[in-house]
Amino acid sequence: MLVNSKLPNVGTTIFTTMGALAREHNAINLSQGFPDFSCDIKLLDLANKFMVNGFNQYAPMQGVIQLRETIAEIISTCYNATYNPDTEITITAGATQGIYTSIAAFIHKGDEVIVFEPAYDCYIPAIELHGAKVIPVQLSYPNFNINWDEVKSLINAKTKMIIINSPHNPSGTTLNESDLKNLESLVKDKNIIVLSDEVYEHMAFDNQPHQSVARYPSLKQQSIIVSSFGKTVHTTGWKIGYVAAPDYLMKEFRKVHQFLVFAVNHPFQLALSEFLSDKNNYLELKNFYQHKRDLFRKMISGSRFKIEPCTGTYFQLLNYSAITDENDCDYAIRLTKEKKLASIPLSVFYTKQTGNKLLRFCFAKKTETLEKAAEIINSL
Ligand code: PMP
Ligand code: GLN
Repeated sequence: MLVNSKLPNVGTTIFTTMGALAREHNAINLSQGFPDFSCDIKLLDLANKFMVNGFNQYAPMQGVIQLRETIAEIISTCYNATYNPDTEITITAGATQGIYTSIAAFIHKGDEVIVFEPAYDCYIPAIELHGAKVIPVQLSYPNFNINWDEVKSLINAKTKMIIINSPHNPSGTTLNESDLKNLESLVKDKNIIVLSDEVYEHMAFDNQPHQSVARYPSLKQQSIIVSSFGKTVHTTGWKIGYVAAPDYLMKEFRKVHQFLVFAVNHPFQLALSEFLSDKNNYLELKNFYQHKRDLFRKMISGSRFKIEPCTGTYFQLLNYSAITDENDCDYAIRLTKEKKLASIPLSVFYTKQTGNKLLRFCFAKKTETLEKAAEIINSL
């Protein structure tokens, strides 16, 4: 049978590819972003408690109300903003589903969606699957800033969505207050939805508060926030996240959500709700990862890599232009095979290549893993 692919240019994701290569070559794996340490045992005990107590059938379509209330409380604590847990928050099967569902719910054939590059890998395929056009805007190297005049010049009647992501994967940089104000004024009074990927919301460093769209009342009214508990409580394998949006947007979001996934893992939602009712379990995260960032950067400070700025997430970019002329994919593969260290080449997050020589390393790892990685990095 002839298959008419809807995604003819898409292969297996870089995370799957580099993870498999790391396993095959027994390499230290700083490629895909996930912790190599356990989550809090209290969270596991809570998950077990709710399973044993019989919460093993379908959860409500919107997510359990306890968790939605906890999320409303977190957003209020962190960003001083109000979302109605009943009508404005939905639990999703990870942020990936929240992003896909948002695009499916609002993007029509022929629409234009502005995406900043380097862009996390799930945005563009979802836009293309809905027949819309991706309008890429390059973030400027090395600070990965947004040129808002350029964004303004690209907005037209077809522009229906702008996707932002701060703290930003893969660059490890963050947007500031003036970025959010620029965005707010650009979309005001226009039929443009801002899809704000905030999965690293609790990992903004150096005493700079995370700039959630929720902080800006006018912007909040036309934004969908997507986040993920995988990052916040070290459980990327649970695939539970959430979406927060004003009720008129959430109503449409749920129309799609109920047919895409219907409901999300029930006992784990209850466990997350109880665990996150202790504020320390999310407020402390930035110190935890800032410490890892500082440790990793110090360990490799004498290496030949240029250590790029990192103000959020658990990713550190390293520029290898002083070491080799190879392109980043070739070098990342060679490092994994020959030096036993896996990373992610940055070019995979671009539609238009830059020629920058950058690799992304995940520092959500035990000290001993970071020490072993640093030893390899310092030997190059
Ligand atoms: N957005 C960004 C920027 C990510 O890094 C990730 C992956 N961790 C996701 C979305 C997807 O999150 P989840 O694993 O909860 O689907
Ligand atoms: N978010 C993770 C990363 O950037 C990858 C998740 C995935 O493999 N899809 O490394």
